[in-house]
Parts: sequence; structure tokens; C-alpha cells
Amino acid sequence: MITDLEQVNGHLQSLRINKEKTQKTQALASAKRIVSFSPHPDDSEIVAGGFLAGAVERGAEVKVVVVSDDRMSLTSITRPLPMEEIVALRKKEELEAMSILGIKNVEFLEYTDSEVPEPRRLSRDFMRIMRAFQPDLAVTVDPFLPYEAHPDHINTGRGVMEAVLFHAYPYIMRDAKVNSQAPNLALGASAIPNAVVSIDHTIDRKVTAVLAHKSQWPDPKKMEDRIRKLSAGYGKLEGCGYGEAFKVLLPDEIHVDPFASLP
Ligand SMILES: [Zn+2]
Repeated sequence: MITDLEQVNGHLQSLRINKEKTQKTQALASAKRIVSFSPHPDDSEIVAGGFLAGAVERGAEVKVVVVSDDRMSLTSITRPLPMEEIVALRKKEELEAMSILGIKNVEFLEYTDSEVPEPRRLSRDFMRIMRAFQPDLAVTVDPFLPYEAHPDHINTGRGVMEAVLFHAYPYIMRDAKVNSQAPNLALGASAIPNAVVSIDHTIDRKVTAVLAHKSQWPDPKKMEDRIRKLSAGYGKLEGCGYGEAFKVLLPDEIHVDPFASLP
């Protein structure tokens, strides 16, 4: 991984971001019910922690769903621990991180780390959750990140997209009632983001939340540095100090839309 973030700054500034208040930036700014799906404990904080904390602050309902249990975590801190202790520790750290962001609604699906099911199967869980929660925005990691190899990220991201696609189809999963429209999608850690939100007011909480995953960062200063530098790079795109970037997609853009990858 490139650790010298000065190096990628030039690239960040070349990204094509919607500057005006478009439907896409509005999808983030005006979301009232947000569900964020994390492949592992910590992913929501890393890709969207500042945005989610800001949303809670302005009165939005936020739910976070953690898909896998992170039992394969392999840092110098987790390595000596038995697997069940790692799982318990990762859960504890996640709840602490969430409470720093002001998020109380956290659901753990407890799939085995590195073995989360295929998107088809996973999307059934996600659809059930979304039809009950009725979000207007679903957040997750971009499963089409070029060179992404982690199956939990690919399957979670694609599972969420499939669940959004079929959200409002009453004959698909008849036992989970449809009471809302399909939510918009915000994919974090995207190579082609099209919207940036300012996290000037929440950057400190984001950093504290990510660092609450103490077992993951034997060198917390290094992680903090990385988050601040990267957020500052995205912030420049929006004319603010710190930002988070997303590929925002409207529900009608995720099926047979050859232009969906455009900003
Ligand atoms: Zn992850």
C-alpha cells in the first residue's frame, strides 16, 4: 500500500467530483435513514465514519450492520489470542467505535471472516434488514474497486447492490414486506468517487472511532496520520479541510446503465 500519501495527492485532485448540489450530493446531504454495511468491524468507520457521525448529529437514523466476525485478524496484538477471544474483542472494539460516532443501532451477522457467502445469498439478509429499516441511503464498500481481492468486501458490496436493486420488488422475498422505495447507494473506498462530503466537524471523532479498534493498529499514530492525510486530500476536492469520498449511485443506475461509471 502506498504510504506516502503526498504521492497520491496529485491523482486525488484529478478525480471528477460533482461540485454543485446535484442529486448525488443531495443523496448524501439529505439522507434521513442510513444503513451502512461493513464487511468487517472497522470498515464503516474507515470509509464513512465522518459522514455517519455528521448524519447522526443532524438527526438522521443510522444503523450499522457488521457482516463478518473478523476472526482471521492477524496483527501483532491479535496473533497470540485464541480465535474466540479475537471475535469477542473485535465486537467490543466495534461497539466502542460506534458509540464514539453516536451510533446505537448495530447488528452483527457473525459470518466467518473471509468466508462470507456469495452476494446472491447475502443479499437476502440485507434485503430483510433494509425492508424493515426502510433506509433512503445504503452505504458500503465499492465491490468494483480494481484489484480488490478480499471476498468479504466483494461479496458484501455486491450483496448490498443486489439488495438495493430488488428492494421494492414485492414478489421477491414475499415474507419481507416492502414499505419503502429503494435507497440510494454510497460506495466508499471507490476508485471513481463522484461526491465528497465535508467532515471538518467530525474528523476528530472519526479518528478516535477508527483508533478504538486498538487491536488493529499496533502503530496508532501511523493510522491517524494516514486518515488525516487522505481525508485532507479528499477535502481539497470539496474546498474544505477534510472530506470523505463516495461513488453515489441512484437505484436506476445499477442495472443496464452503460453510463453509471461516469461522475
Ligand atoms: Zn474489511
